[in-house]
Amino acid sequence: MWDIKSMSLTELQGLLGEQGEPSYRAKQLFSWMHQRLAASYEEMTNLPRSLREKLESYPLTVLQAETVQTSMKDGTKKYLFRLGDGCYVESVLMPYSYGNSVCISSQVGCAMGCRFCASTIGGKERDLLPSEMLDQIYRIQAETKERVSHVVVMGSGEPLDNLENLIRFLDLLGSEEGLHLGMRNVTVSTCGLVPGIRLLAEKKYAITLALSLHAPDDEIRKTIMPVAKRYPLDEVLSACAYYFSQTGRRVTFEYSLIAGVNDAPWMAKKLAGRLKPLQGHVNLIPVNPVAERGYHRTQKPNIELFKKELEKNGINVTIRREMGSDIDGACGQLRARYREKQP
Ligand code: SAH
Repeated sequence: MWDIKSMSLTELQGLLGEQGEPSYRAKQLFSWMHQRLAASYEEMTNLPRSLREKLESYPLTVLQAETVQTSMKDGTKKYLFRLGDGCYVESVLMPYSYGNSVCISSQVGCAMGCRFCASTIGGKERDLLPSEMLDQIYRIQAETKERVSHVVVMGSGEPLDNLENLIRFLDLLGSEEGLHLGMRNVTVSTCGLVPGIRLLAEKKYAITLALSLHAPDDEIRKTIMPVAKRYPLDEVLSACAYYFSQTGRRVTFEYSLIAGVNDAPWMAKKLAGRLKPLQGHVNLIPVNPVAERGYHRTQKPNIELFKKELEKNGINVTIRREMGSDIDGACGQLRARYREKQP
């Protein structure tokens, strides 16, 4: 049996059709789940009671907000959600002038092992279902009563390590009968799984691909990102070029600055040389120190130096505005802290 909230409208029409229901019933059910964001079948009052009772045998994914922390600095809200099986994931709501942006998780934990990242410390527990990715957005929209206009798949997990569910999630998110979110307002971030990047390119969504680069060459990259041993930078960057050629969307490169590891000006120059042909954009992020790792963030003047060096060599750069730093803003930190406190 399939998870009902992960099914497309056509699949739902098939399922209900088998039970003798007319196709408009499937439309009503889909709209309750994906537009009106119902948390139970009981709420779906225009469905006949007999049908609602039948539907009870298809569990409806609804995440429960276990804790919500609000940043006093910038209004960022961090949610810790409890999944049906007792696992936890986190999501972040960032109110920007252009709208509400939600950062969602794609897996419970992560298998990629990046040295600076808190999400990967306990390894991957499991993939999230499409419905569980959607429901992070749905619950936040239902709670705030404000439309979510932008989505970034940049929370815990590697989305391209959960590609089939990611694609289903994107289709449901963009669906006219659902939230109907424009794909231009969606960003998917990857540590560089080459086959996944190429597959996603072929889907030709108008989403932005963000590549977690964090180093100018394989030697340095391998010391902080184990995935670099599987996919060398040449292959990763050529997959990014392919992504650009297929979708017309410029790739964003994420670069977290770690003091003494990847922040020397010569590295900026080398990086610029590699990125120039891709016309990409670099997002510099001072690394969020994770207690378990012993990495420190690059100091402000050195961040500026790194930025200038990139710019001098023709690269567009922004320093990412930090949000929610007072509420365990970085990936996996809230979940990690919460797990520590559990018996
Ligand atoms: N697995 C995906 C998406 C999740 S991580 C990826 O690797 O892109 C989202 C972004 O946060 C990535 O760029 C990741 O490298 C970065 N990140 C993880 N931990 C960080 C930390 N402690 N400080 C700064 N950036 C971090």
